[in-house]
Amino acid sequence: MKFSFPHMGTSHVAFKYLLENLGYEVINPPTPSKKTITLGARYSPEFACMPFKVLLGTYMEVLDKGAEAIVTSGGIGPCRAGFYGVLHEKILKDMGYDFKMIILDPPLYDIKEFFNTVSLLRPKKIGWRGFINVVKDSWAKLCALDEMEKEANLVRAYEVNKGDTTKKVNEIIEVIDAASTRKEIMGLQEKSISMLHEVPQNKLRKPLKIGLIGEIYVVIEPFMNYDIERLLGEMGVIVHRSIYVTEYTRHTIWDRKAEDYIKEAAKPYLELMIGGHGVNSVGETILYAQDGYDGVIQLAPFTCIPEIVSKSILVKVSEDYGIPVLTLHIDEQTGEAGIRTRIEAFLDLLHQKRSLSGKEGMAK
Ligand code: SF4
Repeated sequence: MKFSFPHMGTSHVAFKYLLENLGYEVINPPTPSKKTITLGARYSPEFACMPFKVLLGTYMEVLDKGAEAIVTSGGIGPCRAGFYGVLHEKILKDMGYDFKMIILDPPLYDIKEFFNTVSLLRPKKIGWRGFINVVKDSWAKLCALDEMEKEANLVRAYEVNKGDTTKKVNEIIEVIDAASTRKEIMGLQEKSISMLHEVPQNKLRKPLKIGLIGEIYVVIEPFMNYDIERLLGEMGVIVHRSIYVTEYTRHTIWDRKAEDYIKEAAKPYLELMIGGHGVNSVGETILYAQDGYDGVIQLAPFTCIPEIVSKSILVKVSEDYGIPVLTLHIDEQTGEAGIRTRIEAFLDLLHQKRSLSGKEGMAK
């Protein structure tokens, strides 16, 4: 059977490894493009959020290339994410596509159902032990990718030659993709960090530090956010992304309390679960302020209710904690030039704020 899945940052490298090593043929999801948005928007309900449209467009692209099954994740909480999978399936089947949709809902409410769905992915000829080993190796690749991206966000702010870090990141992704033995896979994390450290850096710089918050898909997928981590890094900013695929998986599957400190931080402003990453956006902004960050950028898909709610609360948080917050709404009409101009103006403000506070020149 030919499998595919959503494109989300670099995670496709690990998901491809997982499915290929379970014996399936993989139709790699293409990096989303204008064509993906156009396709998705044409067949989505008008009020659907941007991630919904881009995912629908991606599914159409992979089904046109011959995918027979799509594996995707479900969602929890009071927002539309929980309906994504079923609604995508219905729209695509109404359009005449014949395929199997496998939706991995977080095991919070029904652990048995979760394991039943996971076991659909295990071919009969592979025993449970073999299955678990492939899952573990894929997980190790996913961890190596995430840790490499975190480190790249530090290195990029100090790179001597603009673009060196991104070139190195692309080389490392190829190394992670090619690793096939257990020994190679287990050494990937260390190897990729040491490869990144080959990039010439100027450690005399005092970069601004910015926290990146918002809805998971637009935060993780560079196409959705105009590659904001690279953009900021090449402007000499250290970026801390608030969410990675490995952390999201860990927090929704086996370590549900890991985010309690974020929810605790948000509590004085927002106690209710509002779906998506709305509560996290509030809590993380407070935590970034307490950690001495210079500013926060919130990425919000147009019509995303959790991020609209948190945006209104962030006005007060920003005042109370003295941390500037820039909200960027992402929709089909958003243009890269507009995003860049707003970011440049925001960085000017942060530099001014730093120099007024007498911290200019202090290493952060
Ligand atoms: S979190 Fe926002 S963008 Fe994501 S499904 Fe919910 S409303 Fe839509």
